[in-house]
Amino acid sequence: MNYQDTIIAPATSVGSGAISVIRISGPDALKLADTVIDFKTGAAMSSEGYTLKYGTIKDLDDVIAAIFRAPHSYTGEDSVEISCHSSRYIVARILQLLIKAGGRMAGAGEFTRRAFAAGKMDLAQAEAVADLIASESAASHKVALNQLRGGYSGELKELREKLVELAVLMELELDFSEEELEFANRSQLQNLLDSATARIGKLVDSFRSGNAIKNGIPVAIVGAVNAGKSTLLNALLGEERAIVSDIPGTTRDTVEEVLNLDGMLFRFIDTAGIRESSDHVEKIGIERSYSSMAKAGIVIGVLDGAVPFKEVSKACAAIVARISPDKTLILVRNKVDSYDAIAPEEFPTVDRSYNVLQLKYPAFGTYDLDPSRLAEKISDYLSSKGIPVPEGISILDISAKTGEGLDTLRSKLVSACGDGPSDLGDATLVTNLRHYEALERALDDLRQVSAGLERHSPTDLVAQDLRNAIYELGTIFGAVTTDDLLDNIFSKFCIGK
Ligand code: GDP
Repeated sequence: MNYQDTIIAPATSVGSGAISVIRISGPDALKLADTVIDFKTGAAMSSEGYTLKYGTIKDLDDVIAAIFRAPHSYTGEDSVEISCHSSRYIVARILQLLIKAGGRMAGAGEFTRRAFAAGKMDLAQAEAVADLIASESAASHKVALNQLRGGYSGELKELREKLVELAVLMELELDFSEEELEFANRSQLQNLLDSATARIGKLVDSFRSGNAIKNGIPVAIVGAVNAGKSTLLNALLGEERAIVSDIPGTTRDTVEEVLNLDGMLFRFIDTAGIRESSDHVEKIGIERSYSSMAKAGIVIGVLDGAVPFKEVSKACAAIVARISPDKTLILVRNKVDSYDAIAPEEFPTVDRSYNVLQLKYPAFGTYDLDPSRLAEKISDYLSSKGIPVPEGISILDISAKTGEGLDTLRSKLVSACGDGPSDLGDATLVTNLRHYEALERALDDLRQVSAGLERHSPTDLVAQDLRNAIYELGTIFGAVTTDDLLDNIFSKFCIGK
C-alpha cells in the first residue's frame, strides 16, 4: 500500500439519483481539484477545511467541492468530495481528468484502509463501516452503529492490555529462570483469566444472534409437496419470487429471500417438499429441505389442509422428528379457504364430537376442522409413533392464497425473536465471522493457560498460550495486522468506500 499517492473514486453508485460524489484523498487532493475545477472563489489550496466551493469544469459540468483538511477528514488526509450531476459520462470524464492531473483510481476499501492506517478508527470499526452501509433493517443498523462507535473494541483492548502485562511478567520469570522467581502473581492471573474467559465466552455466544440480525434470521418453510410452501413464501414476500406449480415437486432448488418485519430481517429458505421421490433431482432438493431445517432458527411447517388427516399427520411427523429442540417451530394448516367452498351440511360428518367434516376431496377421507383439535390429534399421533411432542404444539389456520391468517403468522415470526430491535438494548453482539473465529481461538488459548496453571506446566508453555490469546484479540481491532489480513478485509469493500 502506497499512502503517498492521491486516490480518487466515485463514492456513490453512478447512474441512479440526481447527484454523484467523487472522492479524492491524499497529499495532492487539493491540487488535483484546482487543476480540474475552475473555482469562483479562489483555489482549493488556499481554502480552509470544512468549506464548500462552487466551481465549473470546462465544457462539462458545474460542481460543488467539499474541502477537508488533514487530519480532519474521513481518511485523515487532505480530501475533496466533488458533487456533480449524476451521469455516467460526466463521472467518467471527471475521473479521467483527475487521473490526468496525477490521481490514481482507489482500490477496494482504500479510503477506509487509509482511515485505519491514520488511526481514525480501529479495524473492527472499519469493518463496521461496511456493515453499516449494508444494513437493511433497524436491528442490523443498530448493531453496526454500535460497533462503529466502539462496540466491544474498547473492552477487548483493555482486556488485552492486562493480559500483556501478565505475559511480560511471565517472560521476565523466564529470563531469571535460574533463580526460580515468580513475578506474575498466579492467583491474580487466574482471576483475570476467569473474567476474560467469561466475557469472551459471552461474546462468542452472541454471534448466533448477532449473525442472525446481520444476515436475517433463517426461516425454513418445510412441508409435504403441494402443501403450498412456494405460495406461502410468495404471499409473505408479497411478490412472485419462487416457482409455483400444480405439478408435485417443482420447487426443486432452494430459493432464498429476505423480508423485513418490524425491523427484524428474516431470510426465508424455500424447500422442495418432503416426500419420497424416485426423481433424482428432486431427491437432492428434498435433502436440502431437511438441511435447510438444520440451518434455520425458525421452521414454518406447512400442513396441507386439503388432504386427509393421515397424510397431514405423517407430514407433520416428518418435520417434528427431524427438528432439534432449539428451533422455533410454527405449524400452519394451509388452504383453509378451500373449506369455505363446502357447506358443512352437504357432507356427512363422521364424528360430530370431533367436529369432523369431509372435505373437498371426499375420496381422501375426513379432516378435523378445529385447529386445536387437530393439534391434539397430531400430538396423539406423534406419541403413538414414539416422536417427542414439541412443547406447546399449536396449529395456525392460514390460506396462502387469500392471505387469511398471514398477519398472525407474521406476528408469530416477530415474537419468535424476542422484542426485536428494541430488545437489543446496548447489547454488544458479535456479527463478524472474523471476530467470532478470533474470539473462539482466544478463548481456547486462555483455557489452555488456565489448565497449564492448574497443572503447574512450565512457564514458557503457559506464556506461549497467553501470547497466542493476546495475538488473537489483537487481530480483532487491528493491534496486530498483516498485509494479507488487511488485503482480505478491505478487498470485500466497494471501491470508493
Ligand atoms: P409446494 O409444493 O408446497 O411449494 O406447493 P405450491 O405452493 O406449489 O402449491 C401447490 C398447489 O396448492 C398450487 O396449485 C397452489 O395454487 C395451491 N395452493 C397453495 N396455497 C393454497 C391456499 O391457501 N388455498 C388454496 N385453495 N390453494 C392453495
